[in-house]
Amino acid sequence: GSKEPVNINNLTGEYFKLAYNGLRAKDKTFNTALVTNFDDNLPLINIVQQDFGRVLLNLFNNAFYAVHQKQKTAGENYHPEVVVETAPQPPKGGATSVIITVRDNGTGIPDSIKEKIMQPFFTTKPTGQGTGLGLSLSYDIVVKGHGGKIDIDSKEGEYTVFRITLPVG
Ligand code: ADP
Ligand code: MG
Repeated sequence: GSKEPVNINNLTGEYFKLAYNGLRAKDKTFNTALVTNFDDNLPLINIVQQDFGRVLLNLFNNAFYAVHQKQKTAGENYHPEVVVETAPQPPKGGATSVIITVRDNGTGIPDSIKEKIMQPFFTTKPTGQGTGLGLSLSYDIVVKGHGGKIDIDSKEGEYTVFRITLPVG
C-alpha cells in the first residue's frame, strides 16, 4: 500500500476492538477494562494504513496477553485494564506529530530483557503464541517507514507503556 492521510482515532478504535474480540473468541473467560481517550482535534497523518494497523494489532495483542497472564496468578482484587490514547504534539495547536499511547497494568517487562524485546525472534511466549517478530516489525514500520519513534516504559509486575510518535508528514 501507499501513504494516505488517515484519522488515526478511527483506525485505533477499530483495531482495539478487533484484537480484544480475537482474544475473547479463544478464551470466553478473559475480561479486561478497555479504556479509550481519543483527542478530537488530531491532524490527519500520512501513513500506510495496513502497515500501521499491524503495529497497533501487535501492541494491543501484547497488552491483552500481559493482563491475561497476570490475571491467572493475581487475586480477586486485580482489575485488568488496557488504555489507549491519542494526542497531538505539541498539544495546543500547530501539531507536527501524533502520539498513540498503549498502557496495560499486566505483567510488565523485567529489566533483564528490556534491551532485547525489539530484536527479531525475541519472545517470552510459548511456541505457537508468539513469533517475537511483532516489535521488530513495528520498529521497521514506525521508525524506518514513517520517520516516527517508539518509547517504552515498564515496571515488572506493574505496568507497560508503549508510546508511538508519528510525524504528520
Ligand atoms: P511476541 O508478542 O511474538 O512475543 P513481540 O515482538 O511483540 O513478540 O514482543 C516481544 C516480547 O516483548 C514479548 O514476548 C514480551 O516478553 C515483551 N512484551 C511486549 N509487550 C509487552 C507488554 N505489553 N507487557 C509485557 N511484556 C511485553
Ligand atoms: Mg507481539
